[in-house]
Amino acid sequence: MNDMDIIMQNARAAFDSYKTFSGIQKASFLRKVAEEIEAARETLVNTANEETNLPLPRLNGELTRTTNQLKLFANLVEEGSWVEAAIDTADKNRTPPKPDTRKMLLPVGPVVVFGASNFPFAFSTAGGDTASALASGSSVVIKGHSAHAKTSALVFGAIQKAIESAGVHKYTVQHVLGSGSTVGAALVQHPLTAGVGFTGSFSGGKALWDLANKRERPIPVFAEMSSINPVVLLEDTLQKNAAAIAKSYAASITLGMGQFCTNPGLLLAVKSNALNDFIVSLGKEIEQVLPQKMLHSGIHASYSKGLEAALIQKGIEKVAQSEKQPAVEEAFPTIAKVAAGIFMTNPHFREEVFGPYSLVVVCDDKNQLKEVLSSLQGQLTTTVMGTDDDIRDNSDIIALQTTLAGRIILNDVPTGVEVCASMVHGGPFPATTDGRYTSVGSTAIKRWVRPVCFQGFKDDMLPDALKDNNPLNIWRIVNNEWKKGSI
Ligand code: NAP
Repeated sequence: MNDMDIIMQNARAAFDSYKTFSGIQKASFLRKVAEEIEAARETLVNTANEETNLPLPRLNGELTRTTNQLKLFANLVEEGSWVEAAIDTADKNRTPPKPDTRKMLLPVGPVVVFGASNFPFAFSTAGGDTASALASGSSVVIKGHSAHAKTSALVFGAIQKAIESAGVHKYTVQHVLGSGSTVGAALVQHPLTAGVGFTGSFSGGKALWDLANKRERPIPVFAEMSSINPVVLLEDTLQKNAAAIAKSYAASITLGMGQFCTNPGLLLAVKSNALNDFIVSLGKEIEQVLPQKMLHSGIHASYSKGLEAALIQKGIEKVAQSEKQPAVEEAFPTIAKVAAGIFMTNPHFREEVFGPYSLVVVCDDKNQLKEVLSSLQGQLTTTVMGTDDDIRDNSDIIALQTTLAGRIILNDVPTGVEVCASMVHGGPFPATTDGRYTSVGSTAIKRWVRPVCFQGFKDDMLPDALKDNNPLNIWRIVNNEWKKGSI
């Protein structure tokens, strides 16, 4: 047996034990993980600060978000209705007789999670993918990100403490470090791996997705990849609020040096004097933003290369850059503009430049703006900025935007993702590999389960969620009606 075999055999053994845990037991484990992370806060935040260049307030906030995510999933599985229990009782008098059928969601088995470079806590070792997989009843193998390997190992240490105190199988969560194309690829290809969670580049996510589909038994890869998050700026609001919108968008474009998957990389509007004013204001705001260090040298190199490639495209015009020249590994905040006709002929403009960069696309008229929107690939978010009159007059644009992304935002910035039941952090390919799911919020658990129907089973043979007397007291669909009581 090689190392990967040992890891995955252990993950499988842990799954066989952990999947029998009740919602209350899993909730207790998730809360213990949150407590151990909280107890190690200072060390974790300081280590992440050294490894990622991210400032302490941001890291403290992200750590709180991470423990809140764990508690959100704890509450979800403790309440229990998430299993979507549905019961159709038998009818012997029907011709042919109708059998008793009962359905619920069950965990798929060991899940491999790839930590993201840009969220060392919330999308990494104990982040949303791990929390949702553990909530489902799956064991987890984490491939830590090399950009914050120490932080990842420390978070895993906190998880191990929770494993001991909660009495769950020793290998319910495992942690490996190493290269993605060797260690990561081997984990995805291993026959015992049942699902994969990933956040990162398009090339990384697509490579892992392809590997998973080439397996003898293909498995789902839920990869959150690239997105340029188009924003539509409508006319009336530009006339009334150009300066305020420019201020809030300059802040959003450069928040965390643009290292957010929801960064607004594309601003679309029909040409007008108000748009010209907006572009001038946005440029002035960007000039005032100080360059800062990016997460790691690789991301910095990739941003510099992407920015350079963008700015040499035919027809592009640089609007503004930070007035301060960037130092080593610092990103150069930049705004550019291009006419929609040129945008449409060059696919390069649709590529993500991961960092503090945004491109304004100036359209001749509304039809051209709709053409630009229609030419875009799947996105995580799309935003519309408009007055009530704007929105009433442009329902066709909003209808188009709804087909484009997992989240459509009105009069706000796309950076900032609430962790809640209604959140969709997903979207059509290539934003993700499967636009039917979200990687943020409680429904992220649905990625790690499959529905199973029990037909003809006696009551005492059924899982508690499907028993007649409803011992878990959960909401169920019984003979097509929502019910909480017993049958
Ligand atoms: P990444 O390069 O995709 O890496 C993420 C994880 O996937 C790492 O663990 C990496 O392993 C692994 N990996 C990458 N390519 C792989 C392959 N071909 N086969 C197997 N495993 C592979 O992402 P990153 O390091 O976070 O950032 C790199 C670029 O990704 C950025 O410059 C940016 O353009 C983009 N990015 C986008 C988002 C977004 O949300 N849209 C977020 C972060 C980054 P290693 O440890 O070997 O690197």
